[in-house]
Amino acid sequence: VVLDEVYISKIINDTFSLHKYQAEQKGLTFINENQLDPILKIKSNEFRLRQVISNLINNALKYTNKGSIKLESKIVNDKISIDIVDTGIGIDDKKIDQVFRKYYTVDGEKNKVGFGLGLHISQILAKQINGKLSVKSKLGKGSTFTLQVPMNKSVANKKPTIQSRVTKEIPVDTSIV
Ligand code: ATP
Ligand code: MG
Repeated sequence: VVLDEVYISKIINDTFSLHKYQAEQKGLTFINENQLDPILKIKSNEFRLRQVISNLINNALKYTNKGSIKLESKIVNDKISIDIVDTGIGIDDKKIDQVFRKYYTVDGEKNKVGFGLGLHISQILAKQINGKLSVKSKLGKGSTFTLQVPMNKSVANKKPTIQSRVTKEIPVDTSIV
């Protein structure tokens, strides 16, 4: 997977906005509490970030019938932490360890809305960007899914290494020699 320099805050805001209409249709309060600096760049992959955040919001929309969905993002211990907090149906303590398994749905056969693939795929995508997915939930109260990704700050924010200084000096404008 190619890791590019991306503006993480904009990716979060854009992805969040895509789901605003669906949330409103369901009568849910939809709150973006992204606290990341708009100029913060990290080494990651835009497609994967969008896909994982979208999957988590889609689940929140699917499994929440009243109340709210809130996105919170902040820096915790030098890592970026993106929480999707819902007030939905929640997940049983006994089943929560299994939600990332392929084809797993909490309701099993009764589940008519999903294939049990979204979280499994999200976890693979999160690993590809050196990230981590986790969940906390209370049955009947709601769930919080968290995507954690490393800061991996842009090389532009760091002191140049000897190697990068040398490579920058290589191009010579021969037209003026
Ligand atoms: P799909 O493949 O379409 O995503 P899915 O939503 O059923 O189907 P996953 O996204 O992998 O599959 O989620 C697995 C299961 O975890 C779901 O079937 C559901 O039971 C439970 N789950 C996931 N997100 C939430 C949530 N926000 N609130 C409550 N339960 C959830
Ligand atoms: Mg899903």
